[in-house]
Amino acid sequence: MKKSFLAVILAVLMTVLFVGCSKSKTEESSKPIVIQGAMDVETENLVKQLKNVEEIKYRGWKFWKGTIDEFPVVVSKTEIGMTNAAVSTLLAIEKFNPRAIINQGTSGGHAPDLHRYDIVIGKKSVNFGSFKSDRSEYNKGIHSEKWIPMDINVNVNGEMKEVKDFKGDAKLISAAKSVANSYKKGKVVEGVIGSADQWNRELDRIKWLNEKYGTSVEEMETASAAQVAKSCNVPFLGIRILSNSEVHNEDYDRNSGVYCQDFVLKTTKELIKEYSK
Ligand code: SAH
Repeated sequence: MKKSFLAVILAVLMTVLFVGCSKSKTEESSKPIVIQGAMDVETENLVKQLKNVEEIKYRGWKFWKGTIDEFPVVVSKTEIGMTNAAVSTLLAIEKFNPRAIINQGTSGGHAPDLHRYDIVIGKKSVNFGSFKSDRSEYNKGIHSEKWIPMDINVNVNGEMKEVKDFKGDAKLISAAKSVANSYKKGKVVEGVIGSADQWNRELDRIKWLNEKYGTSVEEMETASAAQVAKSCNVPFLGIRILSNSEVHNEDYDRNSGVYCQDFVLKTTKELIKEYSK
């Protein structure tokens, strides 16, 4: 009597566990990968790769929902700049419940060893628009080289944390690294993506940012999207191609946006293989 009662309890527990696990597996595999780009030159080609594509607009932000290799993928146009990227990222998380977010596109070179068309896999991203200065009196001038980097306040599940930068997700980084050898337009490195609503062309400032923050490149979205992803516990990676480099006097080339999308497509396919195991 006692034994059969225990057996029933055990059977019930195992069923609950089994149903629970298989449910979470199907839930996981229905979560899409979101790929973000700010401009058409950074998103158009990825949209073309989607099967069964549906265009969706939320509050004016554009998303294309479809599949790649039968896996759900959403391409998202964040528009240019930090705040647009933040809004778009939160909309993506709320509406699509993504398994991971990749923010990708063009950027300007900071590191002297990087040239146009090289690709930076963001081991971290940093908001370099966040500063404080020491007090100085009127007529003492503006000395941006003396400004002091200021930590960012991040809301992580209701708890405010001060952070210097945002780490790229290890699994996403290894997916990107695994396709690095197939990229023929330049080299692929791990580096630091610097973001702010700025376009810097003064070489002394670029050098200062590179030395102070270790920035490999600058652009206007990644650290903002990374902050929102961190707030919501969504794995995140920035991947940026150099479309221009003042350091080497290399002008903006829009083809770089296409090369970056090709690289990100390969990364995504690799990730899908990993997720489907
Ligand atoms: N010349 C471009 C202007 C792009 S505006 C055009 O054809 O319209 C800036 C966008 O390009 C942002 O989304 C930013 O992320 C990216 N970007 C590329 N190079 C940059 C740089 N050197 N500094 C800042 N942002 C850059």
